[in-house]
Amino acid sequence: MRKKGAYRVCKDCGRTFVPKSKSNKFCFNAACRANRRKRYMDQYMRKWRDKHPSYWKTAEQREYLRKWREAHPGYFKNWRKANKRRLRAKAGR
Ligand SMILES: [Zn+2]
Repeated sequence: MRKKGAYRVCKDCGRTFVPKSKSNKFCFNAACRANRRKRYMDQYMRKWRDKHPSYWKTAEQREYLRKWREAHPGYFKNWRKANKRRLRAKAGR
């Protein structure tokens, strides 16, 4: 038996779908899921910036980071590699 109100309209494509949880606002199409993730990240970043208003505010800081990245081109690559190894070690347990 279907409960009344079990269907919801996707906020992205406008189609009706059956939500798996009360917080589902998007259907399960790949495109809508990708949009949802993007929206969520945008929202998260906005909230984060609101909480830390002074963190990236100044142009000097951005310029400093850019210069630092240029001076250490392999850093982020190496960091990812190191973390991958750590994650794999964790998963192996
Ligand atoms: Zn949708």
